[in-house]
Amino acid sequence: MSDAPFTVAIDGPAAAGKGTISRAIAAHFGFAHLDTGLLYRAVGALVLDGAEPIAAAQALDPRALEDARLRTAEVAQAASRVAVIPEVRAALLDFQRAFARRPGGAVLDGRDICTVIYPDAEAQLFVTASAEVRAARRWKELREKGDTRTLADVLADVQARDARDSERDAAPMRPADGAKLLDTSKMSIEEAVDAAIAHVEAKGAVLRG
Ligand code: C5P
Repeated sequence: MSDAPFTVAIDGPAAAGKGTISRAIAAHFGFAHLDTGLLYRAVGALVLDGAEPIAAAQALDPRALEDARLRTAEVAQAASRVAVIPEVRAALLDFQRAFARRPGGAVLDGRDICTVIYPDAEAQLFVTASAEVRAARRWKELREKGDTRTLADVLADVQARDARDSERDAAPMRPADGAKLLDTSKMSIEEAVDAAIAHVEAKGAVLRG
């Protein structure tokens, strides 16, 4: 057993499977997990309620990320709009970096973890899938929750967010040079999780806890 830091950094677009993979890695190795999208979603939700984005990011209490509203499509779009503002990103940086080096190991998933937040992460992954596959997965999830939006609407949302996240000047989403590319388009979730865990193990992670 060891308390030494070990960072797993996972980037990729919406609905590629990052969240499921990150949680599975955290559970497998006994690491803490931070879904960094929730930070941007929390700022986006405050802005929808009338707050000014930079002030909202600077005052954000990262412990208050449990609100179910943060998971809605409206908040996701608001998150990707505040995420283009460099001062918003800067305000959220220290918390993420400190989390990355916490004793006992950490998994962070987002868009710029390998490229900006912690480029020295021992294990790095870029998890992706085609926009059509990602939209179909998200649409199925939404339908199970009673949402009536069409597949075409969900695909348009996914594409709008991809464009905003990869074309922005501040920390654009892109695979880092050292990251393992995992395209989950044709994989089951079990296959994707197994491949990710194998990569993290190969990078030297040991079980904790
Ligand atoms: O991952 P999630 O879909 O929750 O992210 C919501 C939005 O937050 C993304 O579309 C992106 O604009 C932004 N984000 C970011 N950098 C991160 C995580 C999320 O810009 N590390």
